[in-house]
Amino acid sequence: MASAATGFDGDQWIDPHMATKRDYYELLGIQRNATDDEIKKAYRKLAMKYHPDRNAGNAEAAEMFKEVSEAYEVLSDSGKRQRYDQYGHEGVKSAFGPGGFDFGRDFSHSADFQDIFSSLFGGGGGGIFGEMFGGGQRRRSRDGSQRGADLRFDLEIDLEEAIFGVERNIDLPVTEACGDCAGSGAAKGSSRETCRQCGGQGSIISGGGFIQFQQTCPVCRGEGTIIRTPCKKCGGAGRVKVRRNLALRIPPGVETGSRLRVSGKGEGGLRGGPAGDLYVILHVREHSIFERQGADLACSIPVPPDIAALGGDIAVPTPDGIATLKLPHGTPNGKVFRLRGKGMPSLNGSGAGDLHVRIAIEVPTRLSSSQKRLLQSFSESCDAGNYPDAAQMQKRAEAFMARRDVLRAHR
Ligand SMILES: [Zn+2]
Ligand SMILES: [Zn+2]
Repeated sequence: MASAATGFDGDQWIDPHMATKRDYYELLGIQRNATDDEIKKAYRKLAMKYHPDRNAGNAEAAEMFKEVSEAYEVLSDSGKRQRYDQYGHEGVKSAFGPGGFDFGRDFSHSADFQDIFSSLFGGGGGGIFGEMFGGGQRRRSRDGSQRGADLRFDLEIDLEEAIFGVERNIDLPVTEACGDCAGSGAAKGSSRETCRQCGGQGSIISGGGFIQFQQTCPVCRGEGTIIRTPCKKCGGAGRVKVRRNLALRIPPGVETGSRLRVSGKGEGGLRGGPAGDLYVILHVREHSIFERQGADLACSIPVPPDIAALGGDIAVPTPDGIATLKLPHGTPNGKVFRLRGKGMPSLNGSGAGDLHVRIAIEVPTRLSSSQKRLLQSFSESCDAGNYPDAAQMQKRAEAFMARRDVLRAHR
């Protein structure tokens, strides 16, 4: 039930996508020049090892299964593999959305996956991937339990929160295992009974002679069991809709596309099956001062022309507080200074990027008459030596006009 959370819910991982993503070849334990066959073989072995059906309730195995599946998805596709070889994870990022692997995507259409899984587990691959990635049909395990789907939650944060980290409470609608019947769907004191129609198989064979076909049992709808007395609270569904309030800890240094995994906080499992995981995808809003450039931050600081000409101190806001930047005399407009270590903190807690400070000379406005007189007399004191760029432009303009005169004269 939605309860005000104290502390943090579930185990929380930060997956700063590209930064800690493991190399696909390393994941599959193969050489970079592995043949398609070797890739397939390696994946087959690992998929068997980590498959959720063999590792019920083991979150680590589930994660490994996803990771090796993702690696296989990329390396088994020559185009994606080429992009991956050339650009690393960045090169195939788009294929998985900004946050890395797109677990909302259904792989079951992939002929190769179908092939591997039907040969491995004797059934269509769709169920497995449907379950792993939150769509499509579900695969039941032998005891009828079913893992809940993984959920995705998109969370917008501002840059301050990305820089300093924040604790955020999110409120999300989720279905969880019904507390009254522990997810069985059967009323208290009763239990699910084996379906008599199919004898618990979930499917029936019909037809006769040479033509036989298997179909989902219409009585239990493939479940293998039926409920005589449905649970009052969930009406037999085994799950109830709730709004869940979760405390999330967002560490300093995250960026758009970073994802937090909160284990066991996805959709509730059915009939004792484990809950899915919740993935929180972060989106960092644009900021009024800073623009993010990877680990670095950039900002543009308006500077009066007299300070730029004479040199002087300017104040620059940084994540570490106000820094003083000493401008040398004759600082041109657009010049960029780099303040080391004043950018984004790194996610692993060591060091930070830089802050790039761009000088934007601001022309003074609303001049008083005495200011106008001062500028006037300053202006009169100037010569070409004070404005070398203007002097050079004047020379070029004169040369252009001379050429123009010559060419026009011969027309
Ligand atoms: Zn119930
Ligand atoms: Zn049945």
